[in-house]
Amino acid sequence: MAELFSEPPGRALAIYAHPDDPDVSCGGTLAAWAKAGCEVRILLCTDGGKGSSDPRVDPVALAARRAEESAAAAERLGVAGQASLNYPDGELGDDTGLRGALVAAVRSHRPDVVLCPDPTAIFFGQDYFNHRDHRITGMAVLDAVSPAAALPHYFPDAGPAHQVTTVLLSGTLEPDVWVDISSTVDVKGEAVACHRSQFPDGVEWASTAVRLGAEDAGRQAGVAYAEGFRRLRLGG
Ligand SMILES: [Zn+2]
Repeated sequence: MAELFSEPPGRALAIYAHPDDPDVSCGGTLAAWAKAGCEVRILLCTDGGKGSSDPRVDPVALAARRAEESAAAAERLGVAGQASLNYPDGELGDDTGLRGALVAAVRSHRPDVVLCPDPTAIFFGQDYFNHRDHRITGMAVLDAVSPAAALPHYFPDAGPAHQVTTVLLSGTLEPDVWVDISSTVDVKGEAVACHRSQFPDGVEWASTAVRLGAEDAGRQAGVAYAEGFRRLRLGG
């Protein structure tokens, strides 16, 4: 029996690699929770400056454009805030610098729920494998959430320790909990469509693709539209 994650948390922090990742991965959930009064914040790790197959595109200009697009998307989702660590796209390292920045964000926002990519999801079928930045972000977030953010002797200058109680991993091959996004699937489509630089052939199909993906997850969850996650319960 599919389990629904039906109680919106008080505070949530979504940590993703690229400007469009939160919207694609969990935009329906973030919008639904924000609407329900949850304080939702987004932290991006990179500037997305390499997200183009056109060699004439200037990465600095693309990063600036993507910052505008993701600000518009965050506004569409209705979240309380969005920030970026602004690492160069594709150059994330799973190192102390990144973990320290993530610990500082967790301790500052003090979320009940953290959402991030599932770093163990590498191969999707036979024609796609997960982007390095997604894998590194997921692993660094897990290590930042537990034990680092929860124990004061890790990064002692990054604020008072905070225990996150739930991590929801998106882009997972092993979903075990779903959020009903029937009331926000259209908002998710509109937020994804804000990332115009990612759709050189037009954004029209973005909302269709979002709807089809949410329908598929909805079938597993027993609702019209859903997003699926692998859930970790921590600090119990
Ligand atoms: Zn990405």
